Amino acid sequence: MLALISALKSSIALYRRDRRPSTFSFIPVMLGFVLGYVIFAAFLSRQPEATTIEFIVAAVFFGGGIFCVMIFGVVSQSMERIAFAEFQQRHNESHDPLTGLPNRRFLLNTIGQQVIDYNTSQQHFALIIIDINNFNNINEVFSHQKGDVLLAQFSTRLKEFVEDEIFLARSSGNRFTMILNDPENINIAQYIESIQSYLDHPLTINDHDVNLTNTVGVALFPEHGSNAEEVLKRAEVAMYNAKRIQAPYAIYEPAASSHFYDKTELAAMLHNAVETMDFELHFQPVLNVHNPHSTTFEALIRWPLGDGYSVRPDDFIPIAEQTNAIKQITHWVLETTVAQLAVWRKLSITPQVQVNLSAKDIEDDSLEPYLSKLFSRYAINPAQLTLEITETSMMQNPAKARSVLEKIKKLGVSLSIDDFGTGFSSLSILSNMPIDEIKIDRSFVTDLLYSSNHEAIVRSTIYLAHSLDCRVVAEGVETEALGQYLVSIGCDKIQGYWYGRPMNLAQTDAWLNETLLVNSRVASQN
Ligand code: C2E
Ligand code: CA
Ligand code: CA
Repeated sequence: MLALISALKSSIALYRRDRRPSTFSFIPVMLGFVLGYVIFAAFLSRQPEATTIEFIVAAVFFGGGIFCVMIFGVVSQSMERIAFAEFQQRHNESHDPLTGLPNRRFLLNTIGQQVIDYNTSQQHFALIIIDINNFNNINEVFSHQKGDVLLAQFSTRLKEFVEDEIFLARSSGNRFTMILNDPENINIAQYIESIQSYLDHPLTINDHDVNLTNTVGVALFPEHGSNAEEVLKRAEVAMYNAKRIQAPYAIYEPAASSHFYDKTELAAMLHNAVETMDFELHFQPVLNVHNPHSTTFEALIRWPLGDGYSVRPDDFIPIAEQTNAIKQITHWVLETTVAQLAVWRKLSITPQVQVNLSAKDIEDDSLEPYLSKLFSRYAINPAQLTLEITETSMMQNPAKARSVLEKIKKLGVSLSIDDFGTGFSSLSILSNMPIDEIKIDRSFVTDLLYSSNHEAIVRSTIYLAHSLDCRVVAEGVETEALGQYLVSIGCDKIQGYWYGRPMNLAQTDAWLNETLLVNSRVASQN
């Protein structure tokens, strides 16, 4: 009887722990057995002719019954335990232990299933990646353990925002991904803004408030990819793109797809592109504050892949530098620019063009004779060309850079320091370089109106440049207010989307026609 009660107790305990109906199902069997035996014993005791043998047989049956029930209980418990362990193992394999959210594998399976179901369901979905910015710094400052606490708090807040039917996963260390079904029915931009404003809430660690910021990338199925990996990758591309342009979020654009190829693939593709020089030059207008009717462009290389995608220079120029293809690319950019200047000159248009050089180019003694040949072959005035060299590349080998640049400058071209402010360069080295112009990096210009630090940097750079007899260009000017402010503090040239975006050749010609027409109208009115 004791064994029976203990089997009964343990099965009830087991049921309480995992609440599975199959565990519960053998409780009625046991109760039925006990009740049946009690009824049988009562029946026997009422039979006057029941013999001791019959009672012994009944007791033996009862013992056998208890034994069977015990075995049944033990087997059932073990089976339940095995099932429970399997369930936990499956859960651990598909869930992240820190936040309890589905992990990347589960996410990919779920997206894969939705992609398969699309044939019948026709359900579109959006993948939204939320990446916590600078999380490595947080781990370094607060330790990984505290970083985990912050991550758990962040995920709790995210879970609070996300409705239950939306699949939310922790797709990697500091990254969360959600699957939003039927995105055509909602305003995605507004939805992301509401997530970000909900997450814009200080978290607490060691009684300190910590503000975690995040960047969001979105890709849509079926518009942006045909399988789970592809859509996820493209949401990542959008997220990286948003980071690159310092935007809070971005929706995938095919033009940004160079991130979709890894470096090795790009290097192999670049090798072929260089053989056939499969590139295009785009031209971005630059406003000359002191002479608004003159025309200046920056030539920016583009690598179209032929399927509507184009690889960004930031993605392939570093590869070209590693594989030494940069020399051929720079020669192509220079020749295409000079040849275009010759075409425009025939139309009596003589713009200034700025061309970017890379670090390798300014260590190359053959650059000066190459330029000299180009100028005489196309009969172009070298003063129409400005070469831009980034501050960082100039500082890699300042002595060599200085000797190459001095020779080039003797040809009559102007020299400009690009991305100024990002390279921690020494002022004494800079002041010895034969430069005519300083381009203040976009990162200082963009938030000038809101950051007093950046405003101080820009003002002192203008002062420094003017005292070195250099012009100052502000790049990345996206609004009129910013442009006007930069003019008021002494910038000589303004470049950015406000004045004009980079344009292909046909668009540049149209822009030139329109601008020259306006200029000639203004001239005839005066
Ligand atoms: P960069 O020399 O600083 O060129 C300016 C970049 O800023 C261009 O990007 C341009 O499209 C972008 N930009 C211009 N105005 C704005 C604005 O108002 N807002 C924002 N958000 N962006 C603006 P792009 O064309 O992608 O070029 C990126 C970099 O690639 C260039 O930076 C330059 O370092 C390099 N690059 C481009 N063409 C060449 C080339 O022919 N040769 C070499 N060596 N490097 C090149
Ligand atoms: Ca540049
Ligand atoms: Ca720049």
